[in-house]
Amino acid sequence: MKKFLLVCLSTLAFTAYTEECAPKNIILFIGDGMGLSQVTAGKIEKGTLEMERCPVTGLVTTWSASSFVTDSAAAATALSTGVKTRNGMLGESPDGNPLKNVTEYAEEMGKSTGVAVSCSLTHATPAGFIVHVPSRKMNPEIAAQIAASGIDVLFGGGLDYFKPCLPELQKKMPVVFSTEEFRNLGTPTNAAAILYPVHPPWSTDRELSLKELTQKAIQILSQDKDGFFLMVEGSQIDWAGHQNDATNLINEVVDFDTAVGAGLDFAEKNGQTLVIVTADHETGGFAVLDGSLQDHNITKTGFCSDHHSATMVPLFAYGPGSSVFSGIHDNTDVGKTMIQFIRASE
Ligand SMILES: [Zn+2]
Repeated sequence: MKKFLLVCLSTLAFTAYTEECAPKNIILFIGDGMGLSQVTAGKIEKGTLEMERCPVTGLVTTWSASSFVTDSAAAATALSTGVKTRNGMLGESPDGNPLKNVTEYAEEMGKSTGVAVSCSLTHATPAGFIVHVPSRKMNPEIAAQIAASGIDVLFGGGLDYFKPCLPELQKKMPVVFSTEEFRNLGTPTNAAAILYPVHPPWSTDRELSLKELTQKAIQILSQDKDGFFLMVEGSQIDWAGHQNDATNLINEVVDFDTAVGAGLDFAEKNGQTLVIVTADHETGGFAVLDGSLQDHNITKTGFCSDHHSATMVPLFAYGPGSSVFSGIHDNTDVGKTMIQFIRASE
């Protein structure tokens, strides 16, 4: 592990890395709408965040091809393909051509792939790592493309959209629908857990934490000797931002951060895993204005918007290849770099 880091530390540019740096596995954690103030709020609540175990920090610009302020679809496309597109589009260029994503590159390299999220699996962020459609609103088509894809782990909600393609999915992998079935999954080579008709409730009302989903996803995917790519999304930080709901915002950051801890636990033991923690955009123009560090309590917050903002988002990285993420980069650089690493890890 130390040897990998030393090699990587001499790397200054995103494109100039040595093959020794290329990680075998990549776990990308996306806190939807998680700007720096959201992370700050989580830190005050928890004291020390799991994210702080990452030695590398950076900042990421998020504008889309069509807008100063991105939506989650264009941001997911940038992070998954390394190409900017128009707001609302998933896995397609602004002129409507399909863009190959990191999941597809990983599959091509014989790696296992998965997504684990706290929203419908058809929602913009997870869909942006799997499908190619001109509009994020095409839920039935998105579900059909997901079911037809080569992805190995699908944990989230969205059963209403998956009903027509369940037989196709069930031919490929065990599909479970409840907490109990999920906990009895064991370690098949692939699996889907579609746990809610559409979206899960807030983290405080979820039976299965994002951490539990992440641990099971890693357990399944890490059986592949060729390695894996996993995207985990804390989806509802964004929704709390839209609603200017600081309480649920903090709860969602904490739930997300706890899942990050599970990824880092695996990466520490494994030594060949790059963990990246970032966001697709900031939501709410959120600020932490007063509170008590001793009591882990925030007494005053502010929102200057009920939509996304254009402010840069933080990035945290751990493991082989992580040093290239230090500094300020564009969201497309994250996608391009992950794809380079995947293609170099033969
Ligand atoms: Zn949003």
